[in-house]
Amino acid sequence: MVNKQFAVIGLGRFGGSVAQKLHSMGYEVLAVDRDPGRVQDMAQVIPHVIEADSTDENALKAIGIRNFDVVVVAIGEDIQASIMTTLILKEIGVNKIVVKARNDLHGKVLEKIGAERVVYPERDMGVRVVHHLISPNILDYVELSNDFSIIEVKAGEFFDGKTLQELNIRQRFGCNVMAIKRNGKYDITPSPNDVIYASDNLVVIGHNNDLQKLEEACA
Ligand code: ADP
Repeated sequence: MVNKQFAVIGLGRFGGSVAQKLHSMGYEVLAVDRDPGRVQDMAQVIPHVIEADSTDENALKAIGIRNFDVVVVAIGEDIQASIMTTLILKEIGVNKIVVKARNDLHGKVLEKIGAERVVYPERDMGVRVVHHLISPNILDYVELSNDFSIIEVKAGEFFDGKTLQELNIRQRFGCNVMAIKRNGKYDITPSPNDVIYASDNLVVIGHNNDLQKLEEACA
C-alpha cells in the first residue's frame, strides 16, 4: 500500500465518515475540528485527532499540515471557513486539497482558489436517489460528467434468456455492459455468450440519452 498521509478538517457526517474509512483501510489520518465535542467523539474511533481552528494559519502550520499528501476540507455549514481554510492550505503549499462544497457557487469559488477536487456529496446522493425514485429499475446511478453515467439496472423480462451478443446493446443503445450482478456477486468480465436472466442486474456505462433509452426498454 502506498504510504499516503491524509488530514481531514471538519468532522461532521461527511468528514467523520471519510476519516473513519481511511483509518479502517489502514491509512494514516489526522482528523481536525474546532469543536472539542467532535474531537472527543472522533478520538474514540481513530488515534490522531486534534482540536484546531483551520482558519488560523498558525494553527495549521503548527500541526504540520504541509506534510500531508492530501487534505480533505469537510466544513459544510460555514462556507466562509471552508473557503478561508482552502485558501490558507493553498498558500501554505499543500499539494492536494479536496473540498466538500455546499452548492455550485461555493464549488466555483473553491475551484478558482485552487482546490484540486471539489465534491458535492449531498447533491450527488440526491441525484442518485432521484433516479431510483423515478425509475425503480435503476438501482444505482453514478454521474461521470454532465453527459456520461454508470447505472445499475434490473435486467427484467427484456433481457431474460438472451446473451449479450443477441441483445447487441452496444449497437442498439450505444452503451456498454461493464458487469453482471447475479446472486449478489459481480462478474466484471462478461463475455458475449453470457446468458442474462431477469433477476440479474446489469452495470452499464453510456451517454445519458442512451442510458435513458435502455432504461425505457427494460422498464
Ligand atoms: P456535515 O454536513 O458533513 O455534517 P457540518 O458542516 O455539519 O458537516 O460539520 C462540519 C464540521 O466542521 C463541524 O464539526 C465543525 O465543528 C467543523 N468546523 C467548522 N469550521 C471549522 C474550522 N474553522 N476549523 C475546524 N473545524 C471546523
